[in-house]
Amino acid sequence: MPRILIIEDEEAMLAGLRDNLEFEGYEVDTADRGDDGYEKLKTGRYDLVLLDVMLPGMSGFDVCKKTRNDGNQTPIILLTARGEELDKVLGLEIGADDYVTKPFSLRELLARIKTILRRSAVTGTENAQGLIEIGQLKVSFENFEAFVNDESVKMSHKEFEILNYLYRHKGKIVTRDDLLDEIWGMDYQPTARTVDNFILRLRNKINTSEEQHIVTVHGLGYKLVL
Ligand code: CA
Repeated sequence: MPRILIIEDEEAMLAGLRDNLEFEGYEVDTADRGDDGYEKLKTGRYDLVLLDVMLPGMSGFDVCKKTRNDGNQTPIILLTARGEELDKVLGLEIGADDYVTKPFSLRELLARIKTILRRSAVTGTENAQGLIEIGQLKVSFENFEAFVNDESVKMSHKEFEILNYLYRHKGKIVTRDDLLDEIWGMDYQPTARTVDNFILRLRNKINTSEEQHIVTVHGLGYKLVL
């Protein structure tokens, strides 16, 4: 289920949003200060952020700006106050994806959330056989199957897991530490070199000579580009 971070300092608003979003089946995390919200965004993984503008600690605008400056493209919906026309323009200029004006209807907000989540989910499309196409590779993460030119390709469980993780975070930088934590967890800690070797194997299966899909972000990690 998509994870949503709500950054909002009005207690009743925060509680109401959290309850309703959880009822809709979303996983919800919250912050009631701008600076705390920014830290959560920096360290956590979210599919979408609801961001109030007037916040203690750091304004919603600054949270948005700093987050984009970090290279974090998590979709952001600004919660602006009524009549603050300028807020909306400025908000979109500094990288917010959408805004709703308080007081907003829950139904309207839910519709915006769905639209944005759908937009970010369809960037990689499943083909008619339900396979996801990543470069020359066609893959089913559910069945642990992969094909190139209709021929089955051998891939280890770890390779599937790594590719799935990259796919779920496509377009975003994934660090080696992210992969070590997610894929290997606490039980066995391989070196960063091990991660690089897995990435190399995946690249050989995915990339063609003309197209690179797993790109190295120098000094940071990797990014899947579709
Ligand atoms: Ca506020």
